[in-house]
Amino acid sequence: MLYSVRMRSAQGGAHEVGGRHISGAERIVSQDRIEETTNAMLARAFSHTRGKADFINIVVENIEGERVQEVPLLPVYTRIGRDVVMGRQIAEESLLESGVTLRAVQNGMAALLALTDSMRGAMLVCAVTGQRLDDTGMRGVRVSRMDIDHEEAFHEILEDKGMNNTHVQEALVLASKVVTAPNLIAELCWSDDPEYTTGYVASAAGYIRIPHCKPLGSLLGGRVFFVKPEGDLESIVDYLANQPVIVKVPEEL
Ligand code: AMP
Repeated sequence: MLYSVRMRSAQGGAHEVGGRHISGAERIVSQDRIEETTNAMLARAFSHTRGKADFINIVVENIEGERVQEVPLLPVYTRIGRDVVMGRQIAEESLLESGVTLRAVQNGMAALLALTDSMRGAMLVCAVTGQRLDDTGMRGVRVSRMDIDHEEAFHEILEDKGMNNTHVQEALVLASKVVTAPNLIAELCWSDDPEYTTGYVASAAGYIRIPHCKPLGSLLGGRVFFVKPEGDLESIVDYLANQPVIVKVPEEL
């Protein structure tokens, strides 16, 4: 039996009453792994670099009987800039290559840079006009119900590339789901973890890691999903939040 296990934590009360987002996590596991999974999530919420959570919400939900969609793991590339200015420039170029217009790239980047605190989800932005499309404010749209199929093989692949850390593991699974949403063409992300400054741009062509997307010590990070104008917002949000997805590690690796 498969279960979606998800966690969100905040400081200063629940998110709904204005608490500051601390951390979140998403897994799909069999029943015998629920305890270790929730324990790991609790430990993480209590020891995050963004601060200690005083509100933790963990949901365990049986997804048996739901159609689980399989999507491929995105190939990973790295493009290195020497500082934050170059890092962000590389992110902009990568978004342009994925088909987002210059105007939308600039607006999406500006929306991320304008954040004064972290959201718990992502902003949905039109890939042509750059206008924000969702009305979730600081909450954002959360991607949920996804996991990797062969964790060990996945970790080995990342180990070989010298990037086997929780940030890459989770972001790669999330991005592999995100780029398969209908009419969603690219994602821009950098973490809100003050110690992790590498960001990425993801599209169906791959996951491009970009060191130095923000200054070390910054608590500000976020995600922007670029959506085609013809995309139906409701079905995109429904896919991101509700469709169970297992990311498949390629067999030839
Ligand atoms: P992280 O990569 O975990 O440091 O998260 C960076 C930012 O991405 C967070 O502040 C949120 O705005 C956003 N984010 C994190 N997890 C999710 C998720 N599951 N769905 C959508 N956005 C997320």
